[in-house]
Amino acid sequence: MGDVVLQTATINWLRSLLGKEARFSFVTSKEFSSLLDTHPEVSHVISFDRRGGEQWKDLVKKIDELDRREPIDLILDLHATLRSFRLKLSFWTIPSLTVDKRRWERFFLTKIKSVRIKRLFDRKIFGLEPQVERILKDFESLFLDLRAKRRTVDFRHGPHEELTSLAELPVYPVPAPYVVLAPSASFLYKRWPVEYFVELARKLFQETNLNLVVLAGPDDKFCEVFNEIQSERFFNLQGKTSLKESMSVLAHAKLCIGNDSGMNHIAEAYGVPCVTIFGPTDPRFGFAPHGSKSRYLSKEMFCKPCSTTGKTPCYRDRLYCMEEISVKEVLSVSQDILRTL
Ligand code: SF4
Repeated sequence: MGDVVLQTATINWLRSLLGKEARFSFVTSKEFSSLLDTHPEVSHVISFDRRGGEQWKDLVKKIDELDRREPIDLILDLHATLRSFRLKLSFWTIPSLTVDKRRWERFFLTKIKSVRIKRLFDRKIFGLEPQVERILKDFESLFLDLRAKRRTVDFRHGPHEELTSLAELPVYPVPAPYVVLAPSASFLYKRWPVEYFVELARKLFQETNLNLVVLAGPDDKFCEVFNEIQSERFFNLQGKTSLKESMSVLAHAKLCIGNDSGMNHIAEAYGVPCVTIFGPTDPRFGFAPHGSKSRYLSKEMFCKPCSTTGKTPCYRDRLYCMEEISVKEVLSVSQDILRTL
């Protein structure tokens, strides 16, 4: 989900480069299509419902139909996976460009974790820039357009200077002002312990006048633990909102506090500052928040990063990378941001 949101930077940048005439169609899984189906710069979203049993040939047919109606000039492969390779192969007569996902660099960082190597990454010797900047830089060189140089440096979308963007949505009925807690993540090891989130919620209640909203998907039953918080200022929306409704809640929040996950990327796309908590993954991978007021927390330790996605099970007796990030630290960073708003 986060990747799809981050790729809106590409769409925005290409629009600024190619002007109003260019039309963009986006191919993605059905579960993420609602992120983009009302995006102002996207003409068509072609979705693929793998879980619903849709066949590969159905996807090819949809793209083929689009190509007959509006001939496709270029395929940009933003995913660089076997599946996207297969898709390009199905349309081999259409020129295509593929982004470099820096998988080798990320893999290298997970294997060689010495402080010196990490410092080299900090100095961007290996080109692991923030993901959004990287996309723009790659396309700048691919399109060989001199105007792109200036645009890449100057380009900011929207009033909050964010690069990513999503469509405006009707307000979801949660009384403002509020802070969103997003305790879920695509993989278990990327989750800051839920009891820490509960404690953080209690502290935020004590120290601010803000309402609190928990956002998580229908499968995130672990969020039921928040139900022990009894307050008219607390809204546990786990499993109660569609993706679009969650986007709307995020769009109108003062702050989003979450893991290295799609929710924080969505918040940033709406110009909402984030606190992102990194566990087994590393902000050097390029997925740290990019908003000027956003911050992240990540502990340096010998075993970290232990995988490029956070999917690999922790091999230590405890999830130290997460547990050593204290509630006090997250609270302090959050309050610093809230004071600037
Ligand atoms: S504690 Fe170390 S080994 Fe365990 S998940 Fe975190 S980074 Fe990986």
